[in-house]
Amino acid sequence: MFDKVLVANRGEVAVRIVRALRELGVKSVVVYSDADRDTLAVRLADESVCIGPAPAAQSYLSIPAIIGAATSRKAQAVHPGYGFLAENATFARACADNALVFVGPSPEAIEMMGDKNVARETMKRIGVPTVPGSDGTLANHIEAAFFAEQIGYPVLIKASAGGGGKGMRVVEEASKLESAFIAAKTEANAAFANDEVYLEKYLARPRHIEIQVLADSHGNALHLCERDCSIQRRHQKLLEEAPSCAVSADLRERMGEAALKAAREVSYLGAGTVEFLLDATGDFYFMEMNTRVQVEHPVTELITGTDLIKEQLRIAAGEPISFVKRAPLEPNGHAIEFRINAEDPYRDFWPSPGTITELALPGGPGVRIDTHIFAGYTVPPNYDSLIAKLIVWGSTREEALARGRRALDELTIEGIKTTAPFHRTVLDEKDFIAGAAHTDYVLTHEDALIEKQNAQDEKNVQGAPGNSPVPGNSPVPGSSPAQGNSPVPEKPKG
Ligand code: ADP
Repeated sequence: MFDKVLVANRGEVAVRIVRALRELGVKSVVVYSDADRDTLAVRLADESVCIGPAPAAQSYLSIPAIIGAATSRKAQAVHPGYGFLAENATFARACADNALVFVGPSPEAIEMMGDKNVARETMKRIGVPTVPGSDGTLANHIEAAFFAEQIGYPVLIKASAGGGGKGMRVVEEASKLESAFIAAKTEANAAFANDEVYLEKYLARPRHIEIQVLADSHGNALHLCERDCSIQRRHQKLLEEAPSCAVSADLRERMGEAALKAAREVSYLGAGTVEFLLDATGDFYFMEMNTRVQVEHPVTELITGTDLIKEQLRIAAGEPISFVKRAPLEPNGHAIEFRINAEDPYRDFWPSPGTITELALPGGPGVRIDTHIFAGYTVPPNYDSLIAKLIVWGSTREEALARGRRALDELTIEGIKTTAPFHRTVLDEKDFIAGAAHTDYVLTHEDALIEKQNAQDEKNVQGAPGNSPVPGNSPVPGSSPAQGNSPVPEKPKG
């Protein structure tokens, strides 16, 4: 194992990695921007280095600043977390060039999976199912129209370099294709400096099911079951659970095999996630592979009894996966993660940075909180809005749901708006309780969720604690799909 590892990230994931390093007896060096001077990761780490001003381009995205910090502090490896440089092949190469181990796959694997169009073509070649769509990227809207006519509307235009729902446009009919094509290209160019787009069939109300994989340098590659990430806003995840209500043992095996096939094709090393869409008939289609740890990794940890960050570090250090003898893993119980974002769910999930004046975190059996916030902490406007993850485990889904309700009722965050009240309403909504989630759930359940919120507001007025918004102030908790117009800067792909 390493003696010292640099954490090239911030927020809850920096804290998560520092904790894993501490438990492994490895020294941690955390980098931080001027905006993050007084943060929990900086306090908990053995060492910390300021790498620049608040804008990420000058700090968390500055390869020279991070490499300089790692070499001057004599770190042997760099853990990139998620977002920022986690899927940047140039960064992975820069680490190698400076004799630093990049905790992740090879730059080649990052590149092959980082371009969604290339990844899709690779999957087609090896027989992993993909959503019907164009042959590669589209030269112009006429070519787009040709494929759209072939596969039938609605279609989805997607950016090859896409992430965080950006550069994606749903097109319902032929007359809207040209403008959507131009809009997707423009947005992709602005977000990723790459305007290549391709097109695929827009599936009706699919589920987002992803498979966690791990592969080491000893030839072991295994999957750790699925996560269901269907509860989303603007095609970005809000709530994740494992296992999925829609995945039988047989389907899990087939999806797991497809995910491992994808990983083996790029000689994958470390922790990765293969994302699929699952349609109502039980057919699944490859969407993309994320070559890093995901925001929602804790639900997998809770149902498999593993520590994915430690496994990443072990694999990077050349050790085998620690639980190979236990494989294949079966899900034990049920876990749900609620992303607590500094956003106002009643104003279209608009960012709500500011100072947290009061904080009470839930606890007790089956409750895990991954967060960097504390009372008095100021959420800066510069970064992603994720401020905490509340994860609950239960021996059954029913118990996990009850625990989620109980834990969200215990949670108090004052001073800023958060997505916590949104989650609380979802937990009382009948379709979610019945396990009937899909990626358009938020849009199609607006009325039901508002009704639940109003009921909770009334209860709160009658004296119950909590951080629900003002009664009667419960407008639409959704937003139009696939417009990619997130007001949130620097969204991690999660
Ligand atoms: P990003 O990398 O930008 O997050 P993804 O390809 O992972 O984009 O897709 C994000 C979400 O967009 C999915 O979880 C799903 O909700 C929706 N989506 C993507 N492709 C399709 C499709 N072909 N049909 C329907 N929904 C889709």
